[in-house]
This record gives sequence, C-alpha cells and structure tokens, in this order.
Amino acid sequence: MLPIHLDGLSKTYGERPDAAPTVSVDITVRAGEFFTLLGPSGCGKSTLLRMIAGFVSPTDGAIRFGDKDVTRMPAHKRGIGMVFQNYALFPHLSVADNVAYGLKLRRIAGADRRRRVDKALERVGLDGYGERRIDQLSGGQQQRVALARAIVIEPEVLLLDEPLSNLDAKLREETRMQIREVQKAAATTAIYVTHDQAEAMAMSDRIAVLADGRAHQVDTPRRIYNEPATAFVARFIGRSNVVPGVVREVAGATATVRVGDADLIVRRQADAVVGTGQQVEVSLRPEVLRVVGEAEAALHGVVASKEFLGAIAMLEVEIAGATVAVSTPDVDVETGARIGLVVDPRAGWLIPESTIEAA
Ligand code: ADP
Ligand code: MG
Repeated sequence: MLPIHLDGLSKTYGERPDAAPTVSVDITVRAGEFFTLLGPSGCGKSTLLRMIAGFVSPTDGAIRFGDKDVTRMPAHKRGIGMVFQNYALFPHLSVADNVAYGLKLRRIAGADRRRRVDKALERVGLDGYGERRIDQLSGGQQQRVALARAIVIEPEVLLLDEPLSNLDAKLREETRMQIREVQKAAATTAIYVTHDQAEAMAMSDRIAVLADGRAHQVDTPRRIYNEPATAFVARFIGRSNVVPGVVREVAGATATVRVGDADLIVRRQADAVVGTGQQVEVSLRPEVLRVVGEAEAALHGVVASKEFLGAIAMLEVEIAGATVAVSTPDVDVETGARIGLVVDPRAGWLIPESTIEAA
C-alpha cells in the first residue's frame, strides 16, 4: 500500500494564467487510508480526482504514489482502479467480461483471469453472477460490478467519484459499509469523492473539506465535527450555529467568550493565537444548547419554529435578532413561547481560523 502525495497540486481552467485556480491543495493521503474529498458541487472534487487518475493535467504541482512521481504518467500506467457515478459498464458484455476488462488489457488470460474475476465478484457479494447481462442487474448490483472491475487489477490506488449518488437513500447506506470493507480487504489506498457530509463521516478514515478552491480542513470525521477549523466547516458538517463573540480570557485549551450578554466557556485549539478583546466566531452545535427555566438561563429567546424528528425536536430560537438551532428531547415547547437556554460548559468551540487577524 502506498501513500499519495498531492504537492501544491492545482488546476486553473481557461486561458488566463493569472486567474485564481479552480482548486489548489497540499494533501498527503496515508497508505491504506480511506480518504474522502468532501465539498459542495463545483468545488473541484472531480477535478482533483481526475488529475490523480491522469485524465486531467495539472496546472501546477506534483502527484506522487509513494516515491513514484506520476504527474506526467499516462492514466493506464498509474495502476489505479476507478469507479464512476454512472458505473460506465459495457452494457452488451456479461458481468464477468466487464470485470475481466482490465485483466485483458494487461494480457492476463485463461485460468488466472477466471480465478481473479471470481475472487473480485465474491469480494463484492456477486459470486455466481458472472454470466448475467448488465441490464439484468439492479442499480446497486451494477455499482458493485463497477467496484469489482476496479479492484480486480489489484490497484495501488482506488478512486471513487460519487459512486452512490444514483442509488436510493436506503441502498446508499447499505452500500457505504460494503465499499469500505472491500477497500480494506483489497488493501489499497482509496480516495473517495462525495458532496454528502453524512456519507463522508460514516465511511472515512480522514476527510478533506474543500471549498473556495482550497482545503479548509484535513482531519478525522470526529475532529472535523468537534473542532471545525473554519465557519464553513462548522456549517457544512452536521448543523451548527456560528455566532460572533469577543474573547474575555484565554486559558490553555479553553477560552471565555462574551456572546450576546452571556459569558461562555468554550473549547479552543490550544496553540492558536488569540488575544483578549478579539472578535471571534464560536460554533455551538444544536445539541449543546439546553432548554431550561428562565431563572437558570444564560440566554433568552423566542421559539420561531419547531420540527419533530422522533428522538429529538429541532427548534429555531430567536435570540437578540439572531436565529439559533437547538435540538432538545423536550417536545413540550410551542412556537411563540419564550424560553431560556444554557450552553453546556466547554461544549462550544472557538473557531481557530476566525481568530487570525488580517495581516
Ligand atoms: P465537483 O466535482 O466538486 O462538483 P468539478 O471538479 O467538476 O467540481 O468542477 C469544478 C469547477 O471547474 C466547476 O466550476 C466546473 O464548472 C469547472 N470545470 C470542470 N471541468 C471543466 C472543464 N473541462 N473546463 C472548464 N471548466 C471546468
Ligand atoms: Mg464531481
């Protein structure tokens, strides 16, 4: 298994050399990792993946698989397996012939080829399907054929571009874990592209959150959720209230921040530079705000809307002109009611990149 280095890798579409790049990153994907490029539509995820595959040539930077510089290597020599959103199968060929395609190109024939095709089909849970025609399979099964076709060549690098987008919600969730299991069993380094944050969180060892042509954060799902580097990440992952405040005091990995007329103790990145009196942004997840009696409350607001979601209800609460989302198991609150809220101590997060002062 190989690490993948994207060294100052950037792409600028169009003629103008001074235009801002569409996307530009510095990322190392570790050997054997399931790594996800996550971001809104148009942020350059497919562009990055196609550069790694060799279908799009970089404007700048380099791509290395381990020690091997592949920046200018043709796609078919890079040892990659690729899975696309639309499957890109050959409809007139059998399942086995589709899976065997990459082996044929590599002149692997006879018993060896058959054995490897059977093994790949077994890996994706399609043993016995070899003689079927593609149009006899469901969308989910076709996607698994595409996965088998990608891993059958035992690629160093497995690239997947929104492979679940054409499946319905339930099947998408079932297929997530299967893709992960296949990737781990195939012992390859995988880069997965999605715009679906829940999918990225569920599947990935680490995630790069992309927006405005750059990586806002490269981290584990847990850290991306709990310690977002930017307001964009806080809002894009799950749901978060990003509220402005002023720093009152800093102490190691916590800070006291004045938000509205409340002093909140929040977590912070201990090595981020932040000073007393500085304007910052604080991320408050809906679940760290609790509805309490007026007497106990640190914040007061009016319930603007309520959505019952089963285990919890989601409230939109208006506090001093701002609207914050609050999740609560207490569904006994009605729209228009005045309520009090407290914030769990050290549950909020001081967004580190909000603290960087303009140079
Ligand atoms: P994503 O996969 O994140 O949705 P893409 O990588 O497909 O984003 O596209 C990123 C941006 O680059 C978009 O604004 C898109 O319109 C533009 N783009 C993509 N491919 C080309 C191309 N071949 N020529 C010019 N612009 C392109
Ligand atoms: Mg795309």
